[in-house]
This record gives sequence, structure tokens and C-alpha cells, in this order.
Amino acid sequence: MLKIGLTGGIGSGKSTVANLLAEAGLEIVDADRIAREVVEPGQPALAELAEAFGADILNADGTLNRGELARRAFVDAEHTGLLNSITHPRISAETTRRFAAAEAAGTRAVVYDMPLLIEQGLDAGMDLTVVVDVPAETRVQRLVAQRGMDENDARARIAAQISDERRRAAADVVLDNSGPREALDAQVAELVERVDRMAAAEAAE
Ligand code: ADP
Repeated sequence: MLKIGLTGGIGSGKSTVANLLAEAGLEIVDADRIAREVVEPGQPALAELAEAFGADILNADGTLNRGELARRAFVDAEHTGLLNSITHPRISAETTRRFAAAEAAGTRAVVYDMPLLIEQGLDAGMDLTVVVDVPAETRVQRLVAQRGMDENDARARIAAQISDERRRAAADVVLDNSGPREALDAQVAELVERVDRMAAAEAAE
């Protein structure tokens, strides 16, 4: 089974590309969604977080109060490490489970939609690494105009991520999303064809 890593800086259009790939019939494993699901009410990680950081990290309805958890966890390396030690193994196990389920179902290619693919060195395990590339200034404008994000918040998030140069250097395929939204369609179609060819070649081995 082919593994396609899809990544890009915040606001680059990763989710937009993932949606187009899903429409083209490719299976998507969404890292952000898994990270949210492992801390849903009833999941063991949420109870462990409440034990470790205090019941105040829960909202009245039992869901996770992300802001409160962030205030308590991101104070120093020790607390951040504690948070990661609770969530990361669950995220990792669930991700592995989804890849295995796709493979067992005979899926030819899976797209792993993962913002931190390169930061975490996970691109090494992919057959193809796809980077959605947009200049940082354009991303700030889109995040502010279309997602209603605070401009300073958008800039701080971009500054906390690896540089566009490092992302491009790790890419096998760069999708240029600096133009209009429609300009993505042809690039994504070309990518789908490439994935189909790779999957057919792998199946023929
Ligand atoms: P990411 O998942 O990488 O953070 P999104 O796919 O959510 O990025 O895109 C960020 C914002 O920019 C969204 O509001 C999206 O609709 C918009 N967007 C995506 N591509 C374009 C484009 N080519 N032109 C203008 N806006 C775009």
C-alpha cells in the first residue's frame, strides 16, 4: 500500500487539498482529527489528562477545555512532556490502526494529512511527500480574511513552524497554492495520476 504524506504550513491549503484528494477517491488519514478524537469524553486519555492537570481542564459538559489545558501544560518542558506522554501513544496507536485497516481492506494508497509530518520526521516513512506551498504573507492574509484568525496569532503560529525552505527541501511534490483556488485542481489531478501510476506499479511487483 502506498503512503502519501500531505503537509504544509498553517493556512497553506492542506485541508483544501485533502478534500480534493478525497473527492478523487483517495483514502485520507487526518492527523488533526485523530488528535481530537483521542481526547473526546470517554477516552482514557481525557481522564488521564484530568488526573494529571486537574479537573478544571474539563468543560461543564465533560469535553476538553483546550485553552485551559494549554495554559497548564505549556508552562515548561516537564509539563509539556507529561501532556505528550499521555496523548502521543494514543495518537500513534490510532494512526497505526487506521493504516493497518486500510491495508487490510485492500486500499492501494492512503494520504496521511499531517501538519507536523516533516517536523516529526514522519516523511521518511512515506512513499511520496507532498507539500502545499504558499508564501507566508499570503497565508497570513487568508487566515485573517477567511478563517477570522487574529493577525498576530497567525504570524506567531507561522513563526513557530519550520520554514517553507525546509518543507520544500523535504518534498517530492510541491503544490503551488499561491494562485486562485481553481489553480489547485489541475495540480491535484496530476498528483492523483502520479499516485495511480505508482500504486499500479507497486501492485504489479
Ligand atoms: P490548512 O489546512 O493548510 O491550514 P486550509 O485548507 O484550511 O489550510 O486553507 C486556509 C484558508 O485559505 C481556508 O479558508 C481556505 O478556504 C483558503 N484557501 C485555500 N486555498 C486558497 C486559494 N488558492 N486562494 C484563496 N483562499 C484559499
